[in-house]
Amino acid sequence: MKFDFHSHTKASDGDLTPTELVLRACNQGVDVLAITDHDTTAGLAEALEVAKDKPLTLINGVEISTRWHSFDIHVVGLGIDTENQALQTLLAGQRQQRVIRAEEIGARLAKRGIEGVYEAACQKAGAAAVGRGHFAKVLLDRGLVNTQQAAFDKYLGKGNAGYVPNNWCDIETAVAHIHQAGGIAVLAHPARYRLSNKWLRKLITLFSEVGGDAMEVVLCQQAPHERAFLQTLCEQYQLLASVGSDFHTPGRWIELGRHLHLPEIPGVWQRLGLEVE
Ligand code: AMP
Ligand code: MN
Ligand code: MN
Ligand code: MN
Repeated sequence: MKFDFHSHTKASDGDLTPTELVLRACNQGVDVLAITDHDTTAGLAEALEVAKDKPLTLINGVEISTRWHSFDIHVVGLGIDTENQALQTLLAGQRQQRVIRAEEIGARLAKRGIEGVYEAACQKAGAAAVGRGHFAKVLLDRGLVNTQQAAFDKYLGKGNAGYVPNNWCDIETAVAHIHQAGGIAVLAHPARYRLSNKWLRKLITLFSEVGGDAMEVVLCQQAPHERAFLQTLCEQYQLLASVGSDFHTPGRWIELGRHLHLPEIPGVWQRLGLEVE
């Protein structure tokens, strides 16, 4: 069985529509896919409709942005009830923060002589939850950078001119709302926050103290030692394992379901009641 518990659509900063994402997952032989857009569940209804007559099990998901010290920490919710009012209210507030932040990013870039990026990013986002990915695309279109990653390195990432300190909810709030909606709370891509081991352990300790259930230990592109290290941490803190591509766009390295071998430790797949064989 091929599982992928982390992916994005056009409802946030992904490039495929929910329909396109589901069809792609089928083509890649993915058996179970979670769609986990940033602070929104808007893509799920369309995806469910398409998946209905496909050999694919869809898991309702979301990726909630949280604030911890000065870091942006992402908490994935799996198996959530999208009708849950408390969760939807939290997500609506987060999207409001996204708009406020986007205006501020625009203002900061304008000070650097880069005008009109807020408007252009909103246009790129359309109905989606606006994010830095949309800004990255605008900067790329304008030829100010050669890749979206360079847009983060030069303008949008922490410490750069267009970075705005985040104002997301805290980790505890995200976990509590995911639980209220009947979901499993997963610490997303723990190795991507560039934390020292000491701070990573602090983060996982806090996450587990506030009731977090799982952490991602397997991603598409990952050094074997990193994978082994994350699995050790996962076991030590008695969290369930999760695996996910964090797919945003068709590309060379990251693909739905690719290289997501299940580790031999308890995982979210068991909690979700999925058949492994
Ligand atoms: P946002 O949620 O608007 O803060 O944007 C974060 C998203 O930007 C991530 O989910 C990634 O899709 C994308 N991204 C790409 N490169 C980076 C980077 N270097 N730092 C943070 N986010 C990045
Ligand atoms: Mn993203
Ligand atoms: Mn993330
Ligand atoms: Mn993601």
